[in-house]
Amino acid sequence: MELIAEKSAFRALCESRRRQAGTIGLVPTMGALHEGHLSLVRFARAANDFIVLSVFVNPLQFQEDADLSAYPRDLESDVKAAEAEGVDAVFAPSVEEMYPLGEPAVTVRPGRLAEILEGRARPGHFEGVATVVAKLFSLAGACRAYFGEKDYQQLLVVRGLVADLELPVEVVGCPVVREPDGLALSSRNRRLSERERKAATALSRALVAGRRSVERQVRDPEEVERAMRAVLEDERLVEPDYASVGDPATLERPVEIAAPVRLLVAARVGPVRLIDNMAAASSARGAPLIS
Ligand code: AMP
Repeated sequence: MELIAEKSAFRALCESRRRQAGTIGLVPTMGALHEGHLSLVRFARAANDFIVLSVFVNPLQFQEDADLSAYPRDLESDVKAAEAEGVDAVFAPSVEEMYPLGEPAVTVRPGRLAEILEGRARPGHFEGVATVVAKLFSLAGACRAYFGEKDYQQLLVVRGLVADLELPVEVVGCPVVREPDGLALSSRNRRLSERERKAATALSRALVAGRRSVERQVRDPEEVERAMRAVLEDERLVEPDYASVGDPATLERPVEIAAPVRLLVAARVGPVRLIDNMAAASSARGAPLIS
């Protein structure tokens, strides 16, 4: 497996593999790899000849210096995990390599989708994400790129980026990987104490409660949001941010739940801000309800 730090070498490697008639599967990450990231690698490997995993903690998408400096970094063990999973190359550039002139003058603004939910809580976050992903896609060239539904809004932003800028990339969304108790895997979970780690299950429990309401044919999105929020508020160590019902493509709240929706929650637990989401659809009309 190759470990690459330079953009030119990364571009050259992807070009040479494509010339050998191989398809490239790209898995962009910020490192501190866990089973969620590795599941993306497995999806990529199943459908492509050459697998590249990038590791880059992108300062442009962080609003707080403290959050950026506390973000877990462990390239050595990431490289080992990637190699064990059959990754062909890890691209791990420095900040100076990615942004040689400092903060870029030209950035990508993803529009309305970047201004709600996570975008509202973290102004500029998705502009930072879209800019670094555009750079990665430009370096990698035509490829399939694998993103987790864990960051559902990010997945939609990246799909929008590819569609609006006509990039030669097929974006593949992959399901959320969870701990047995429901907690979505996240590099940030490492910073939770034992008690906070337990309390953090409130996020997935809130989503399950919301999904049950939708399945029980609750049509008022605000009622579903209240049901989710109640679960979050029940945990003393959890400080809820949002509990939202959204259209799966735009994340805008529907007037009435008449089609499948996406449920999304965000909350602060101890030192970290966690997010999670789930699909929900009402039981088929006329089908017997399971209580
Ligand atoms: P990150 O390193 O947090 O930027 O994540 C890199 C990629 O892994 C993103 O596409 C995430 O959505 C995805 N990812 C992170 N956690 C999970 C998870 N628990 N399940 C599925 N994908 C995940």
